[in-house]
Amino acid sequence: MEVAAGVSVADVAGQIGSGLARAAVAARLNGKLVDLSTVVAGTGPNEIEILTDKSDDALRILRHSAAHVMAAAVRRVYGAGVRFGIGPAIDDGFYYDFDLPQRITDEDLVRIEAEMAKIVAEAAPFVREEVSLDAATALMQSAGQDYKIELLRDIAAGRLADGDNTVHAEANPAAEHPGAVTLYRTADFVDLCRGPHVPHAGKIPAFRLLSVAGSYWRGDSMRPMLQRIYGTAFFSKKSLETHLAQVEEAKKRDHRRIGKDLDLFSFHDEGPGFAFFHANGMVILNEILDFWRQLHREAGYVEVRTPIILSEALWHRSGHWDNYREAMYFTDIDEGKYAVKPMNCPGGLLIYLNEPHSYRGMPIRMAELGLVHRHEKSGVLHGLLRVRQFTQDDAHIFCLPEQLRDEVIGVIDITDRIYKAFGFEDVRVELATRPEKSIGTDEMWEHATRALAQAMEARGIKFKINEGEGAFYAPKIEYHIRDCLGRSWQCGTIQVDMAMPERFNLTYVGADNKEHRPAMVHRAILGSIERFLGILIEHYGGDFPLWLAPVQAAVLPVSDRFNAYAEKTAAALRAAGLRPETDTASDKVGAKIRRAMLRKIPYMLIVGEKEVAAGTVSVRDKAAGDMGAESLEAFIGRATQEVREKRLRPKTAVNA
Ligand SMILES: [Zn+2]
Ligand SMILES: [Zn+2]
Repeated sequence: MEVAAGVSVADVAGQIGSGLARAAVAARLNGKLVDLSTVVAGTGPNEIEILTDKSDDALRILRHSAAHVMAAAVRRVYGAGVRFGIGPAIDDGFYYDFDLPQRITDEDLVRIEAEMAKIVAEAAPFVREEVSLDAATALMQSAGQDYKIELLRDIAAGRLADGDNTVHAEANPAAEHPGAVTLYRTADFVDLCRGPHVPHAGKIPAFRLLSVAGSYWRGDSMRPMLQRIYGTAFFSKKSLETHLAQVEEAKKRDHRRIGKDLDLFSFHDEGPGFAFFHANGMVILNEILDFWRQLHREAGYVEVRTPIILSEALWHRSGHWDNYREAMYFTDIDEGKYAVKPMNCPGGLLIYLNEPHSYRGMPIRMAELGLVHRHEKSGVLHGLLRVRQFTQDDAHIFCLPEQLRDEVIGVIDITDRIYKAFGFEDVRVELATRPEKSIGTDEMWEHATRALAQAMEARGIKFKINEGEGAFYAPKIEYHIRDCLGRSWQCGTIQVDMAMPERFNLTYVGADNKEHRPAMVHRAILGSIERFLGILIEHYGGDFPLWLAPVQAAVLPVSDRFNAYAEKTAAALRAAGLRPETDTASDKVGAKIRRAMLRKIPYMLIVGEKEVAAGTVSVRDKAAGDMGAESLEAFIGRATQEVREKRLRPKTAVNA
């Protein structure tokens, strides 16, 4: 459509229709997210997309706007002495960091929420201003906003670029004119912010403050500790309520809590970010790994193991020194410099280089359950989901370039089988392309990216492209699995590496008797085994399928007189390869059942007078309840079949 010069994006929406004008939240103008008040350039064609509450971008804008409204409310509640950190939108909501002398309590959150509601009722507008860096600095100085002054200094020094992950999108220069920054005013709060925002606070229909936590300024433990308030916002009260119910359910399923209740693993101050796996946790891990090994054997993989510590020179050669050093640990051995491996690839390459290769021996599928260490800031550690030491279910495939597509297809197929076995049916696939910081030539990247895309097309997989999100040495396919709470987890990855074979001068002798460069694939399916276990615990709510359950059946004698029969029953189960446990405490059987239920043991086998006489067990299924009496042989047959088929358990309530 044609519009007059000088009209705003909101005017354009209005000209399309009054319904759209009402529903409009923000817009994308020539690819950039902007406020509705943004004026459309008078010359040439413009591409405008009006964002309504249906768009994910609009939801982020809503939440970022809610963060400003919260900051404005905090200022009203605590006065002008509050110093403000940053306040971005995050995946499920938003936060803002505050520096103020008094501790913010849960009761304070209610007061702040009430103040936010007033600002929303006032429909306080978001007013954008473009000012010089000096003017912004003077303003923040007069307000005593030290943190904002620091951000402005970084902007001036060019230290804050778009997408800077320490400060999120907040406070980046977004002004059209060089040397200028943008400010947003809401109620009596003015923030350094790139925007965009909703036009006014009245556009935030549903929000809730959730929690308050300590957070170091810029994630640096040497800097002041600020108070971070987390909240969330939605376009409708109903969506908010659904989300809050889901958060409640997620809390019940928190793997840290279930891990403790079921005695699966623990963490200790002596090893921050390093998990300790207990006997029960090891049962699950080993079952997962047995299954994994079996599938890989069937798919023609061999298994290797390479050292955890390798010379620094190797990491220079691999490119990790240049691209990954910040996340690595270093150590000395004798006079030599060494590094703890953050990835398994260089070790696998040394094995490949250990002997000459012929085209006849290709492909080589070399799997490694490799223990890697990566430095994560202490603030981001989160149970098993974010650790500093983990086991990758890694593999490196070396193949002829013309085998590449089929090898990737093979990985896609094994990935599919593994996710299905654990009950992850909703899988999203993305293709991440070359990032700015990368090694290798344009030609290599193109060839590699094409092979991945073709393999997915061959399997009819629909995928999204993530521009610039690849690893520094390879484009990659990323698998995102959705758990039963609808949360998405990135797990598997397939990367075609055209760079590392060059760096390490990998060769094979072709049919022409000449040396050629093999193609190389890095892939992991579960990703980190530790993290995958954390995801599984939350997905199942601790109710593991029988094949994974640490204790599969609790044998419960109704009194001491039947302990011997109970032990005999347990021995028969063990002989059949099952994992039973006998509860011979002097409690009533009801107490024993409750205990077994709390420990989420799938089957309870109750034995008393009748069972001894008939050679049976009375079966109680944790999910289905009383199943009646059954001969021991029949139960064993049924249970071993359930294990063999890796049958999933019916979904059960967390505290059933
Ligand atoms: Zn902002
Ligand atoms: Zn690798």
